Amino acid sequence: MSNDDVKTPYVNETCIGCSACVAICSDVFDLNDDGKAFAIDWMNSSNANWIDDAIAACPVNAIHYKD
Ligand code: SF4
Repeated sequence: MSNDDVKTPYVNETCIGCSACVAICSDVFDLNDDGKAFAIDWMNSSNANWIDDAIAACPVNAIHYKD
């Protein structure tokens, strides 16, 4: 997979700050000062499977891929 194929995740405003995504993939997700998750600027395709796991684990479906 080249970087051209990498999709960038983002967290929308429905995040409740449960930190599940951070626990699953701390290379990609972190919590901001408001206790909401955000996706770290990310271009490493080796994390792709972890991102899918984080998306599946999010209880409010707040993680999506940018187009
Ligand atoms: S798993 Fe979902 S609700 Fe929990 S911190 Fe991550 S984005 Fe927010």
